[in-house]
Amino acid sequence: MAFSRELMEEIKNRNNIEDVVGRVVPLKRAGANLVGRCPFHSERTPSFTVFPATQTYYCFGCGAGGDAVSFVMQSENLEYREAVEELAKRAGIRIEENFGEKSTQPSVRRDRMLELNREAARFFFRSLLSPEAAHARDYLQKRQFLPVTVKRFGIGYAPGGFNAPLCSHLISKGFTPFEIRAAFLGGEGKNGRLYDMFRNRIVFPIFDVNGEVVAFSARRLNEEDERKYINTSDTAVFKKSKVLFGLNIAKNSEAGSFVLCEGAPDAIAMHQAGFDNAIATLGTAITSEHARIISKYTRTVFLAYDIDKAGRKATLKGIDLLNQVGVDTKIINLGTETKDPDEFIKKFGAEAFRAKLNGSTGQIDYSIDEIIGRHDISVAEDKLRAVSEVTEYIAGIASRPEREVYSQRAADKLGITLEAMRSEVERVAKKQGYRSKSEQVKKALNEQSGFGSAANTDKLRFSSEASHEEAILGILLVRPDYGPEAAKLIDESDFATSLNKKIFGLFKEEISSGREIVPSKDGVLTPRETGALERCRASRLQLGDNTFAALESHIRALKELRRRADYDKKIEDSPAAALNEYLQSIKNKNKNGDKERDHNGEGS
Ligand SMILES: [Zn+2]
Repeated sequence: MAFSRELMEEIKNRNNIEDVVGRVVPLKRAGANLVGRCPFHSERTPSFTVFPATQTYYCFGCGAGGDAVSFVMQSENLEYREAVEELAKRAGIRIEENFGEKSTQPSVRRDRMLELNREAARFFFRSLLSPEAAHARDYLQKRQFLPVTVKRFGIGYAPGGFNAPLCSHLISKGFTPFEIRAAFLGGEGKNGRLYDMFRNRIVFPIFDVNGEVVAFSARRLNEEDERKYINTSDTAVFKKSKVLFGLNIAKNSEAGSFVLCEGAPDAIAMHQAGFDNAIATLGTAITSEHARIISKYTRTVFLAYDIDKAGRKATLKGIDLLNQVGVDTKIINLGTETKDPDEFIKKFGAEAFRAKLNGSTGQIDYSIDEIIGRHDISVAEDKLRAVSEVTEYIAGIASRPEREVYSQRAADKLGITLEAMRSEVERVAKKQGYRSKSEQVKKALNEQSGFGSAANTDKLRFSSEASHEEAILGILLVRPDYGPEAAKLIDESDFATSLNKKIFGLFKEEISSGREIVPSKDGVLTPRETGALERCRASRLQLGDNTFAALESHIRALKELRRRADYDKKIEDSPAAALNEYLQSIKNKNKNGDKERDHNGEGS
């Protein structure tokens, strides 16, 4: 009856939420997100928001929300099954193949392609030892790649010439020209003969998160060759926007953070220097898909892009996209003497790089510097513009003490007094606050008219409980890694409203089967209900405090409310028995409290 999880993932991967919504609603970029006019209610100012980082949408006006499937259900008035079939059709996926029993045809192709890549990697690695690869070995030595590193990352050499040594080898191993072309390892020339895609190049195999070779990044050895790098195009086993080089190793690192660099060679140099948490995007800046993948493994990313203009742009994009999925970013400032982390480590050593990691700048400082850097503040007009942009930026920070700290730093950098900066920041912050307040009023009005709470009908009766419940669900969506710990603290029965109870039950199923909590509960929840859930997530992202301590305090508060309600009800039924039970519960609570304290004492 249900579609397999793999099939659903494939369908969603191939139907970007931006594209799915974009077919119906003209979208405009707003920071990391996109906004447009809601197709589900009439409005003049756009409050319909698409979040590429989570592949979801939410309308702040009417409360509609969800993922690609729920959007198609809602906008085309389809049943869940029909919507999935429609999206599969758009992506060219045949459901019969995947339906029911494990798919046969596509997975065979995948296996075959992985086999092909493995064989090619072996060929490149062996070729590096051949007499004609002396210049390739020289190059690796010059770049100070140690033999152990070359072996570990399977770095190889693609021979030159048009006699297609790789393709001939692969054909001798039983692969067909069609398969070789599909894997981007060979092309078809005018005469219909196969040629090797990579010629006279150093080849870095690209591994997926499971350590399978899924693609190659090939660097020229002849500086006159046109392209410095040739990367595998997207194939059945490789999607550039989703693969992170080094993740198969970094995911097991004990560092607790990732260092994100610009290409495979940089990441390899970093691993060689002892930073086993280095990862890299391939030839592209970070995408929202990368950000989402990273958020599954870590909450802190050091950005170590090149120091040039393109690198700075990529850094800002990285800050933005990673923030969207709740990952903190720190920016490594390597100074101007070297152009990238690889060069820096070779020149100053691993310890110096580690010191730079420790002294890295927070994202707010970096953004302020970036704004100021865009202006020539020795010119009065330009300086005023810089002040106003910095002010606008700092005013957007939620906490007042933080605004104070950054106002001070910005004032120093801009050469104006703290008083001037502070009063301007607070004035703008107030204005922004008013704006969001009027939005809140609008939201409340919508909810009263039955829009937002239509999904959760008990909400009016249990409004305090519902606010804690929504905070709990929202934090769990932002931080799925809290799931297992949270499941120990709270249960469905602690929830007062029926929808939230149902949703938490679904979360628990995912948690206990070791899967990630996702906002879309395929087919189980209605679009209205996924909208309510999406709102929980979106409002937590705006709020900012999504720590485990915040989650715990909402759980505590909810349980306390439930306990009191329980007690009130019992008092009505039988006052004496209720009082007895209450006294007993206090006794137990104290005992448990002691136990917990003892336990914590042991642990630390
Ligand atoms: Zn709407």
